[in-house]
Amino acid sequence: ARKWSSATLFSNNSMGAMLLDGKACGAEVEAEVKAKVSDLEAQGITPHLAVVIVGDDPASHVYVGAKEKACARVGVRSTRIDLPSSSDFAQVADVVQKLNNDDSVHGILVQSPLPEGMDELAITDMIDPAKDVDGFHPVNLGRLVQGRVDGLVPCTPAGVVRLLEWGGVDLSGKSAVVIGRSRIVGVPVSLLLARKGVDATVTITHSRTSDLADTCRNADILIAAVGMAELVQADWVKPGAAVVDVGVNRVDDSSRESGYRLAGDVHPDVAGVADWLSPVPGGVGPMTIAMLMLNTVTAASNL
Ligand code: NAD
Repeated sequence: ARKWSSATLFSNNSMGAMLLDGKACGAEVEAEVKAKVSDLEAQGITPHLAVVIVGDDPASHVYVGAKEKACARVGVRSTRIDLPSSSDFAQVADVVQKLNNDDSVHGILVQSPLPEGMDELAITDMIDPAKDVDGFHPVNLGRLVQGRVDGLVPCTPAGVVRLLEWGGVDLSGKSAVVIGRSRIVGVPVSLLLARKGVDATVTITHSRTSDLADTCRNADILIAAVGMAELVQADWVKPGAAVVDVGVNRVDDSSRESGYRLAGDVHPDVAGVADWLSPVPGGVGPMTIAMLMLNTVTAASNL
């Protein structure tokens, strides 16, 4: 396994944390997916993902582009449906219904965020649970609450757990602290970590948590899913912990042509304290996409 380079370290810990390398782990997942795609092809099935994007949010377009590229890499057919930002709820709902009824489509993903004021949960509810490759439909989240992972499991949370396992991080009986309680990351990753067979002891923290730094210091495994650049400081982290940084934040940086850089929720100094740390970019991002590909072949196999 690779280590954090000394350039990423501000501390005097000469060893540095082990890199939880989402590109390397994601490539392994994609290789598995490719083999499953071949099996399906042999049965005359080409897995097919439909991605709906509403409006022109630049970050959403980058994410959707990355998903399309991943489909091309693993042999999944992809169709992209672009709707203008002026679309109303009924128009988006109509597209989802058509995709639900289209037998050639195995996976449906509606890229978040939807235009201001559009009810995202109501759209999620409308997606056929068997095609819900994001894993956010109540049926799929409900299965997770039952401790079942045979359905479509949300991609980012599944990617986080897979990355920890890939790194050889011991989870059973360990104390895991999750920062964030969203339905997209915080809650499902907490359920996955606590489930039988993974067996971490999980604490969910959030914006109302009164002693966040202290709680984090108890964590053998720390998952940061907040959306605040470099919130988690080195002195919040127990020496030897495994830290997964889910956050993706744009920070102004005039030295770059783009005018910004990407930062995680975890301060780079944490690499000097933790034994494992996922980078941003190159950590959870590629894992999310790889797990989306896995969900798409799972959906294609089940339909
Ligand atoms: P969200 O805004 O829905 O949830 C953020 C959570 O953080 C909330 O539950 C809130 O209670 C908590 N929070 C806010 N301020 C806090 C504070 N000061 N202390 C403790 N907790 C606080 O966001 P989300 O959808 O869960 O995403 C979180 C981050 O992860 C974002 O940066 C997002 O861009 C990123 N993300 C990355 C991927 C990926 O594939 N890499 C996928 C999903 C989300």
